[in-house]
Formats: sequence, structure tokens, C-alpha cells
Amino acid sequence: MGMNIFFKSLFADKVAADTPPYQRLKRVNAALVAIRKLTRDLTIPVMPKTVVLTNTQMCNLKCPYCGSHGSPEVKALYHDKSKNMELAFMEKLAGEALPHAENVWLSLIGEPLMTTVENLEAYVHQCRKFGARMTVSTNAGLLSEDKMVFLLPVLAEIHFSLDGASAPIFDACRLGAQFGKVIRNIKIMTEAIRLLSDDIRVDSRIVFTLCGSNVRDFPRMVELSRFLGIKRIQVNFVHINMEHQNALRGDSMTFHQSTYDRMREQALSLAEGYGIVVVCPPPFGETATSPEIPPPGPLMVELPDSYFQTRPDVETELGFDPDEIHARASQVVTAIRQRRRAEKARSAADIRHEKALTRQWEKVLEQAFAKHKDGMEQFFTQASSMQECWYLDSYLDVRNDGDFRLCCNGPTMGDVTASPHFRERIAVAADVAAVTLRRQTVTDAFQSSLCTSFVRSFDEGTNPSCTHCSARTLRESGYFRETLESSDMIRFEGTQLRLALSGE
Ligand code: SF4
Ligand code: SF4
Repeated sequence: MGMNIFFKSLFADKVAADTPPYQRLKRVNAALVAIRKLTRDLTIPVMPKTVVLTNTQMCNLKCPYCGSHGSPEVKALYHDKSKNMELAFMEKLAGEALPHAENVWLSLIGEPLMTTVENLEAYVHQCRKFGARMTVSTNAGLLSEDKMVFLLPVLAEIHFSLDGASAPIFDACRLGAQFGKVIRNIKIMTEAIRLLSDDIRVDSRIVFTLCGSNVRDFPRMVELSRFLGIKRIQVNFVHINMEHQNALRGDSMTFHQSTYDRMREQALSLAEGYGIVVVCPPPFGETATSPEIPPPGPLMVELPDSYFQTRPDVETELGFDPDEIHARASQVVTAIRQRRRAEKARSAADIRHEKALTRQWEKVLEQAFAKHKDGMEQFFTQASSMQECWYLDSYLDVRNDGDFRLCCNGPTMGDVTASPHFRERIAVAADVAAVTLRRQTVTDAFQSSLCTSFVRSFDEGTNPSCTHCSARTLRESGYFRETLESSDMIRFEGTQLRLALSGE
């Protein structure tokens, strides 16, 4: 084999594509967002860096504590095909937002993989077309190998939502799922990620919602994470709505504080030994309620404290054949490589569109930088600090009806005349016009008075959603410097700032 042919075949097998499209425009937008975050000049136009496309609100499971699928009433409300995002609407949103956006998240309300392979492929196609990467948060019950083939090349992150690390607990908390089947899906996926690790980087994590029924599985979740090759576990406390989920009151972590502290200690000690990062609420410590008195109402599963010590180890309980897992993951990798070889080059029209749009927004960046250069330099000279929220100015979560949210904790916004739920969720000032992404573009909606008034109320401390929100953070100047620099468009030269549009 001649040298050229050798290199050609070597690269033909690589999964990583050439530089994805629209990367420069994304950096321009990141610089604009960074300037707006620092200066709080809401006249600076920005586009979302993260876009959530709520592809479906349906879910394959019926977890008892789930606020949207746990009871027959709420399940009926959310389990509605008309709320699945229409492909034409998704393509409109993608065309407007994704050239600027770095990340696309699929549904955060239902199960994002509750969709056909063809439907998923349409989302993946838009991500590739506009150079955005995808984050998926899934219960993994529907994570089939044919879906992995589409997802893996565009995935930035995958979050496995697992509310138990052993069959008795998992099957009680995740009604409708089977522990062994779900973990097998994840194991094949993580093995495929390992096989592709020279070509792509996909971050994975386990998201573990802790309640009275599964708190004793916390140390075992660390064991499971190690078995799956996942290096990060994020732990949240379950939210039990005490008015509407009376039968589950006993599962609220309010009644399991000292048990949490004991299990947390065991879990963190194991995690340290395995090099696994666990992000979890702090211990209750001396303030822990003792003795714990759960109110009347059954837990989903009641287990002794010694539960963890009495289980067979994870590998034995699951009984997977490693060769079979490896063979199935290898098939996924082969299929990805075949698809990559069959990909077509970008059209000349697409390339022209990218260049024109990038130039248009570079001019916006030049103006914003010129306007604020002195003020920003002064901010850094004085080493000031300021309240900030990661979501603001950079996040857009869209539903099929055109309603949207600007953060994870704030109100749903949209067309008051079209959405019956809207009026209950937000009181809109009389001078703020209704906005719906069904009629407006993402650019217009994101710069609308509805959106800027929400952001302004954060700045002025009058936004009730923000008052007790953990996303509100006091940031030192170093944080703002990092966000400016990470765009790779703005450089610090001593106390001076310089716009480096030409990339020099
Ligand atoms: S998997 Fe998530 S969305 Fe589905 S029922 Fe369970 S908690 Fe709800
Ligand atoms: S601090 Fe305010 S804007 Fe940020 S996530 Fe919380 S509610 Fe939303």
C-alpha cells in the first residue's frame, strides 16, 4: 500500500469530521454574551448559546414522584402527541438559532428518546448542519443501539437519570423500567464511547434523584458508576409536592436526614478511592432531625441500613457477558464509521450563508466592543464583583406551541392569547407584547421587550423567581475575564482589552 493510500484509509476510518461549520460565528456570539453579561447593556443583541428543543413531553415510565408523569392525571396531560415538536417547526428554530448556539439539549420534561430513529436523525442532521453539539438526559430505557449510531457523533454530554443502583430499588422508583435492561443499554453505550475515544469526546454522568426509598443505594451508585466507566455522579434531592403527592410524603428527604449523612459518607469515601466525582448536597450534620419521623404514608421501598453490605456486588448481580457487550458496542462503532464515509460535502450555498452571517455578527461585536472597551477595562482594574446567573442572556428552552423559558427555574413565557396555562404562570406587564416563536424569529424573540424585561428584573432584584434560586451567584472579576477570554475573540494585554477578530 502506497503512503498516500495508507493515510487516506486511516482518515476514512476516523469519526471526527473536519472543523464543524459555524464555529467562528459561535465564538462571536460567545464574545457578545460575555460583554453583555459584564456590562449589563441589554441593547447588545445576543443569541442563545444553549437551545433546548422540547422534542417530546411524553415518557415511557411512570416514576411515582414525577411531577409530569407520576399520576394518571398528570401523565394524561403531558402524554400528548400534539406536544411533540413538529419537524418543520424544529427546522425553523434550528435554522435561526443553531448557527449561533454551541449546545442543543433535547427535552428536559419527558424522555427525549421516546421518538423514532427517523425523528432523532432529523435533530442530529440539524446539529451537524449548524455545527452544534447535543446533550441528552435520558432514563436509558429506550437507548437502543440504532439510536446510539445517530447520537454518538454529535453528542457533547449524556446524562443517565438512574434512581436506583440495585434491582429492588430501581424497579420500585422507575415504574415501567427493568434494572438489568437499562444498565445493559448504558454499558453498551459507554463501551462504544470508550472504543471511539481517539475520535470523539462524550462526557457522561449519572443523575441520581435521592429520596427515602433509594437513599440506601447511594454507596452502591458509586459502585455502579465505576462498573459503567462513568466518572461523575450528580445527586439531587427529590421534590415531593406535599399537597399533591401525599402518599409519598415519607419519601421526602426531610425525613431521612441522618440516613443521608451516613450514606453520603460511605458513598464519598468509595468515590474518592475510584476517582469518581460526586456532586451532592452538603450533609445535614448537627442540624439533622433525629429521630426521623416519616409521616403516615408508605415509602416506595423500605430497607434496612445494612442493605448496601448485603447485596451481591454489581457485576455479579448484573451477570453481563463482557464479550457480548464489547461485540455489540463494536457494531455501533462500525455503523458510525460507515455513515461517516457516506456523508456528502457541504453545498456552496451553505458556505456562503455561513460567511455572510458571520460577517454580519462580527460587525455587531465590533460595535459592542468599541462602546464598552473603556468601561470593561475599568471593571477589571477595580477587581469588582457582580451577581450573575449562568442562564441569563444565553439559554432558550422552546416548546412545540412556541412558548419558551429563559432559564430552568423561571416562568414559561409566550403568547398569552394562545396558551391557557400561561396566564397562571406569569403576570406580564401591560407594555410587554406577546411573543411566540411560532410567529417570531428566535432573533426577534430573544431581543424582545418580554425577554429583556425578564433579564432586567434579575439585575434590579425584582424577579421573584430569582430570589431563592441557587443559580444566582456572586461572581468575582476573574469569572468575567474567563468568559471573555474563552470566546477567543477578546484578549487581555496588561490592563488593556483587544478585539482579535482576525484571530491573530
Ligand atoms: S423517567 Fe423522568 S420524566 Fe419519566 S416518569 Fe420518570 S422522572 Fe418522570
Ligand atoms: S437566578 Fe433567576 S434567571 Fe437564573 S435560573 Fe434562577 S430564576 Fe432563572
